[in-house]
Amino acid sequence: MQTIKDIEIDGKTVFIRCDFNVPKDEDGNITDDRRIRGALTTIRYCIDRDCKVILASHYERPEPGKYEDKYSLKPVVQRLTRLLKIAEDIRLASDVVGEDAKTKAASLKGGEVLVLENLRYEAGETQNDSAFAKELASMADIYINDAFGACHRAHASIDAMPKVFDNKNKAAGFLLAKEVNFFDKTLENPIRPFVAVVGGSKVSGKLEALRQLLDKVDKVIIGGGMAFTFLKAQGYEIGNSLVEDDLLDEARTIMIKARKEGVKFYLPVDVVCAQKFSEEGVAKYLPSQEIPADWMGLDIGPASSRLFREVLNDAQTIIWNGPMGVYEMDKYAKGSMKMSHDIADTHATTIVGGGDTADVAQKAGDVDEMTFVSTGGGASLNLIEGKKMPGIEALKV
Ligand code: AMP
Repeated sequence: MQTIKDIEIDGKTVFIRCDFNVPKDEDGNITDDRRIRGALTTIRYCIDRDCKVILASHYERPEPGKYEDKYSLKPVVQRLTRLLKIAEDIRLASDVVGEDAKTKAASLKGGEVLVLENLRYEAGETQNDSAFAKELASMADIYINDAFGACHRAHASIDAMPKVFDNKNKAAGFLLAKEVNFFDKTLENPIRPFVAVVGGSKVSGKLEALRQLLDKVDKVIIGGGMAFTFLKAQGYEIGNSLVEDDLLDEARTIMIKARKEGVKFYLPVDVVCAQKFSEEGVAKYLPSQEIPADWMGLDIGPASSRLFREVLNDAQTIIWNGPMGVYEMDKYAKGSMKMSHDIADTHATTIVGGGDTADVAQKAGDVDEMTFVSTGGGASLNLIEGKKMPGIEALKV
């Protein structure tokens, strides 16, 4: 993959597609700015080469055409200003490809930074509209994709836009290159034992990733809601726990494949159960074999945590994707927190797949202890699945 270092950018107008889709709390404060910090290397590289820098990102899912303040990139610009520490103000355009954006882009001087408003204010972004892509492209000489977390989506700024530029004028930014190289290198040549820890809500979302991982890893640990489909496939009563009945055969096939390939396959041996999907009411710690008919499992239990810790003990490489329970509720967050601590405590190379899992590691205070925390959830799954991603393919054509 061609990176920004391989192309001539000095003094040019550079459009950098970033992923500034950061989580915010109810008061609008950014709670995790890793995605903004992740983009700084590429932005600084351009500023140091006297480029006129245009940054663009989507933020959540606004209704196209409706400029609602809560979807504005204003807080991102404030954070970026603090993090970049440059003398010039970072300007925010009030639109995406409208008059304000174009005027401000045309008046940029070397070393100055302009941020366009939320790309998804324009319907053309998610429609991968080529006319919209050309409007974006008309503002810049160079296209850089540094939005790893958005690369699996064929949207205009990710797919149609880079296709407007020839090979000499487009490349991956440092963050995108780092993410892709890290996953590629680890999956291709892991130091063993290699352990995959997979959790989250459903088997269906991670089925292909699980299949691919079985060919590569030595051990698989399953937690979260998806564990119940496997437990049911083994014949256990799982009460009202989350389950995908249409995937029971698939779950059995995966467990048989694991056995055939000599991959050790671990499921929770105990679970934290409740009668409602809520923190109110009584929670019980029960063996996985003893879930009452009208109860549901919402976290792995302490015995599972101890077992999984043993399993991780000799790991040299660990990939973790998906929480062990409903970690958004404190009562059911323990299993995920312990998993985060246990992974962080190993001497293994540890890779945390983005989204919820990165959120758990952040809440557990373990981010700095992990070797690599990906900024993309869906995108990192795509890499594990070995799928081609539109954002990366578009840089090659
Ligand atoms: P995913 O997006 O598939 O990685 O799933 C993440 C979600 O799975 C989180 O929002 C968790 O609350 C949810 N989750 C984890 N364990 C369970 C469980 N036992 N029952 C229901 N949801 C769960």
